[in-house]
Parts: sequence; C-alpha cells; structure tokens
Amino acid sequence: MTNAELFQEAKKRLPGGVSSPVRAYGAVGGTPPFLVRGEGPYVFDVEGRRYLDFVLSWGPMILGHAHPEVVAAVKETAEKGLSFGAPHPYEVELAELIQAAYPLAERVRFVNSGTEATMSALRLARGYTGRPYVVKFRGNYHGHADGLLVEAGSGALTFGQPSSAGVPEPYARLTLVAEYNDAEGLKRLFAERGEEIAAVIFEPVVGNAGVLPPAPAFLDALRTLTRESGALLIADEVMTGFRLAFGGATERFGLEPDLITLGKIMGGGLPAAAYAGPARIMEQLAPLGPVYQAGTLSGNPLAMAAGIATLRQLKEHPEYYDRLEALGQTLEAGLKKALGEAGVPYQVNRVGSMLTVFFTEGPVRDYSTATKSDRALFNRFFHALLENGVYWPASPFEAAFLSVAHEEAAFEDVYRAVREAFA
Ligand code: PMP
Repeated sequence: MTNAELFQEAKKRLPGGVSSPVRAYGAVGGTPPFLVRGEGPYVFDVEGRRYLDFVLSWGPMILGHAHPEVVAAVKETAEKGLSFGAPHPYEVELAELIQAAYPLAERVRFVNSGTEATMSALRLARGYTGRPYVVKFRGNYHGHADGLLVEAGSGALTFGQPSSAGVPEPYARLTLVAEYNDAEGLKRLFAERGEEIAAVIFEPVVGNAGVLPPAPAFLDALRTLTRESGALLIADEVMTGFRLAFGGATERFGLEPDLITLGKIMGGGLPAAAYAGPARIMEQLAPLGPVYQAGTLSGNPLAMAAGIATLRQLKEHPEYYDRLEALGQTLEAGLKKALGEAGVPYQVNRVGSMLTVFFTEGPVRDYSTATKSDRALFNRFFHALLENGVYWPASPFEAAFLSVAHEEAAFEDVYRAVREAFA
C-alpha cells in the first residue's frame, strides 16, 4: 500500500490516523510517510523512499537508527523473555549509568514515558513539600498529564487555563504559568505565592516551542527563588538529557536542580523514562515513603537493555558531543546562508544538536516571539524538504535533532530544498 492508502485506512481506525497528534501533519497539510525502516541517519517509508531524518523519533535516536550494539542488546534480551514485573539486574545497571551522568541522581525511579516522569516528579514534590501549586512556563511542554496541559494566560503571572478539553479547571488552577526567560516575572510570582509553591518545572533548553536557549539570569533566578522559598526545582531533561552533554543541560549549564526527569535517549528508542534526585527526596516514594507511584512495565528488561547500550556508547565516546556540536554548527551556518540568499525573514536558534528555524526577524526568546514565526513560510520550507528527501519536524514549534550518524555532505539536500522553496 502507498502512504496515502495507508493514511486513509488508518483514519478509519485511529483518531486522525495516528497515535500522537503531530504525526498527522495537521499543521503543514499533506500525507505523512509511514516509516518502516531506519538505518543510521536515514528512514525509509512504506513506498521505499529514503529520507534524511531530523526527527529521530523526536529525539531518542542520537546514535542513528538501528545501531548494531543497541539492536544486538535488545535481541539478546528478548530471547530471554520480555517482562517479568520483578526486579531486574538491568535496572541497576541503567541507574548506574544515569548516576554517572547526573551525580544528583542518588535514587532513580523508572517509568515508561516522559509524561509519567514529570507527572510523578510533581506528585513527589507536592508530597515532599506539602504545598499545592506548581509553576510551569508558557510554551514549555512536559507531557500530557492534566496539571501540565496548561499554557497561557496573559501576562507573566496568571492562573492556569486548561489548554485541552477534559482538564478540570480546579486542576489547572493549581498550575501557575510564567513566561520563560523572564526572571523579573518569576520574582513577582514568588513574592506573591512563594510559600505555596511545591515546585517549578522547566525545560532547561526549550525544545517544545521550537528551540529557546535559556538566559543565564533566568537560570540563576530559578535556583535562587526556589531555594529561598523551599520549592523544588525540577529540570525536565526528557529532551535535553544525554543530548546537550552526557549529563544533559545540567552538566552543560552547571545547573543544580533538586529533581530531574529523563526520557527519550535513556530508553534508546524503547519506552523508558525516569525521575531522579537525592535520596532524602526520592525515598519519600513508595515502598519507603507515602508518595505512591508504580508501573506494570516499569524498568522492563527490553527498554533497560536499549537504554544501557545507548548510554554506554555515549559514555565511552565523549567525542560524540564534539561531533554533534560541529554538525550543529555546520547545519546552522548552511541554513543561514541559504535562507539569507532566499531573502526570507528567519532566525535559527540552536543549542548543540537541537535546532529550529523560525520565519521571523527575531530574536526569538520566549513563547510570544516564537509564535511570530510565519506559518506559510514554514510550510513551504517543510514541504520542499520532504520533496527533497528530508524528514523534518512537521511543525514550526518543534526542534530538529542531529545524530552522530549524520554527515555534513548530506546537508546539501537541506540547502537545495531551501533554495527551491523560496525560488
Ligand atoms: N518533557 C519534555 C521536555 C518533552 O519534550 C516531552 C516529549 N516531547 C515530554 C516531557 C513527554 O514525554 P513523552 O512523550 O515520552 O510522554
């Protein structure tokens, strides 16, 4: 069957034809390719077309697709049984690798998705502090738990409005929304309600409004204000963990969060995620403490095996992070050249191997400047890329990712697509 035929069939069986909304190409139009194979930096659709992949399963595939060591680890583990719902040696091994990357992670609790990690970390923060409110930033995404599907009000300090039907307003009201990179706004919020705030959760580099780098003064304010008020600081490293450095954004920016949430890369492409922190906080979790959280498939051997194989590669090859930085620099420079020659307004935001092209004069530093990006220009860019065999995130507000399997020479396809899009 072709992509179009499959999409028709899928729409009869899955809402929108997909298992996760952005895959339906609603923002850009057209038919999403059904991907059935991956190899290094390439993915192949059901019609046999090859694409250079900048989505990488939305981040996890930092080693490229079907990395031989990861595949071998999964195969070998699968042959011994898929899940036992019992303690497994691989949980210990993966926790050790996470601790090597994040010294603050004295205790690690494994879950199955980033959504579960952030949801559970917030429950833990509330249980630990005995306080009701959490703070998140406009345009940051932390998965789809009720209290986190809350975006924007107007202004820097506002009560949360649900951004999905089905989120009861009383839940949403327990989430306070502030502006990213706005240290002053956060100060005002803490001056008003600091004593009631259990935690601040944030993306240390935002990927989910497109890439937004953090301002140093904002990072300082986050740590100082939470520390002064007794709130926990939760760095959501689901996207940045093991990507911006082996120790993620925490290492790269010298952060001192109280808890971290991890996902994506640490599962090597299988469903695994985690939250972690000091023993004194983490041991409030059941079975030791009063905060309950559990999971049938949590810590399952297959996902642990894929995670271990992936993190081992990254730990053994610190030079991979230099390579990702170099690839990022090359792609950024090439895109800027091509976009500049095309004469369209653009802004390229990049941190390491995460990059977004915004079609605006910029600068882009928060949700409101990000959403100035011209959607029609993005759509031309996106479809020209797809036609040139480049698989780019199908939304103007997502990060494109690089893997260590990418090669500079192949970026020519990207630059050609840009020239064609705006010719
Ligand atoms: N936090 C961040 C920063 C994310 O980028 C994501 C997913 N893109 C999540 C949490 C949710 O993770 P999952 O999709 O695995 O539930």
